[in-house]
Amino acid sequence: MSEPNTPRVVPLVDQRRGPLPLPRAALEATGRMLPVGSLRDQLGRGLRDLRISVTDRCNFRCNYCMPKEVFDKDYAYLPHASLLSFEEITRLARLFVAHGVQKIRLTGGEPLLRKNIEQLIGQLAELRTPDGHALDLTLTTNGSLLARKAASLRAAGLQRITVSLDGLDDAVFRRMNDVDFPVSDVLEGIDAARQAGFGPSAGRGTGGLKINMVVKRGTNEHEILPMARHFRGTGIVLRFIEYMDVGATNGWRMDEVMPSAEVVNLIQSHLPLVQLEPSAPGETAERWGYADAQGQHDTNAGEIGVISSVTQAFCGDCNRARLSTEGKLYLCLFASNGYDLRALLRAGASDADLASALGHIWQGRTDRYSELRSALGPDTSDAGRRVEMSYIGG
Ligand code: SAM
Ligand code: SF4
Ligand code: SF4
Repeated sequence: MSEPNTPRVVPLVDQRRGPLPLPRAALEATGRMLPVGSLRDQLGRGLRDLRISVTDRCNFRCNYCMPKEVFDKDYAYLPHASLLSFEEITRLARLFVAHGVQKIRLTGGEPLLRKNIEQLIGQLAELRTPDGHALDLTLTTNGSLLARKAASLRAAGLQRITVSLDGLDDAVFRRMNDVDFPVSDVLEGIDAARQAGFGPSAGRGTGGLKINMVVKRGTNEHEILPMARHFRGTGIVLRFIEYMDVGATNGWRMDEVMPSAEVVNLIQSHLPLVQLEPSAPGETAERWGYADAQGQHDTNAGEIGVISSVTQAFCGDCNRARLSTEGKLYLCLFASNGYDLRALLRAGASDADLASALGHIWQGRTDRYSELRSALGPDTSDAGRRVEMSYIGG
C-alpha cells in the first residue's frame, strides 16, 4: 500500500532479458565428463539448497512483492510452453542432487497454482542423494489453497511446508495481500496442514510447519506480538523476515525495514527469549527459544526465528541456487540475470553436458549482494536490473 499523497514511481522492467553466457569451460568440457560430487564456488561455498519457482503467477498482490500497479490485468505472464515441464525440472533436480543439493524448496509465484503440483512432488520425492538419503523437500505458499491441498501434498511426499502470513488481524492481512483475502482461510489452511501430518514432528530439522512473516514498518509491526503469542507452544516455528529490496517494483525504502534486533527486543520484553544454536550450516534464520523461569529454553513453548537479510549480511555461507520458472539458473536472490538451462535442455544436451554446465557455473560464482549492499548505501539505482522475487521465488 503506498502512503496517501506520496506518488510512487514504479519502474517497469522486463526481467526476461537475454541469458548470461555459459562459462567457456563448461562448453569446452561438454560431452567429455559427468562431474558429480560437492562443488565449491569462488568463495568456497558449497551447493546445498535449490529453490525452484514453478509459476510466475499468484492470486495475491502483496505490495512488497507483486504490486498491483505493475502486476495488473495487462501484465504478460509466461506462456505455458515457456515453463519447465515436470520432467525437465526433475531431470535438472537429479543433476543438482548429484552435485550436492540436499534440500529443494518449491516456490513461485504461488506454487499451489501450478496444475498437478503433487505429480512433481512425487517425482522429486523419489530422488536420492549420492549417499542414499531422501531430499529435504519443502514448499513455500501463501496458504490460500492449503485447506484444499494439504492432504494431497503430504500423500505425494512433501515433508515440510512454510506458510507466509503477515498478520492475524483480518483488516491488516487483507490490506497486505491486496486482493481482500480473509485471514481465516489461511488459518484454516494451517490447521489442515497440521492435520495432514505437517506438524512439529514431521520432516527434518525444527519441524514440518513454519510461518514466515515479512515485517514492514508502518504496516504490520503491531502484529508481531499477537503472532508470537498465537504460535507460541504450538510447535510451529514463526520466522520474522526483514522487508527486502528484492526486484525493482516494490518501491523499497530503508525506513520501512524493521531490523530483526528490534523484533527480538520487542518480543523479549514480553516473552523472554534465549538465543539457540543454528540448526544447520548456511541456515538463514537466527533462532531464539522461549525461556522458562530459570532462563533456560522451554522446548514446549518452542522457538522463533529472525531472518536479517538487510541488517546482517549472511552471504558468507550462502549455499542456495535458484531455478526460475522458465529454467534460468540464478546464483543470488538479487541477481539481474541467470543462465539459460532450458535452452541447453531443449537443444538436446546430454546429462553429462548439463552436469558439466552446472558444475562450471557454480564454480565461477562470486555473488554476495547482501554483504555489498551496505557499501551501496541508500542508493538502489541498480534496482532496475534486478529480477522479481515472484519470478525466481523467495
Ligand atoms: N507465494 C508464496 C508465498 O508467498 O509464500 C511463495 C513465493 S513468495 C515470493 C516467497 C516468500 O518471499 C514469502 O514468504 C514472501 O513473504 C517473501 N517475500 C516476497 N517479497 C519479499 C520482500 N520484498 N521482502 C521480504 N520477503 C519477501
Ligand atoms: Fe504472491 Fe507470495 Fe509474492 Fe505475496 S509474496 S504476491 S503471495 S508470490
Ligand atoms: Fe545468498 Fe545473494 Fe542472499 Fe548473499 S545476497 S545470502 S549471495 S542470495
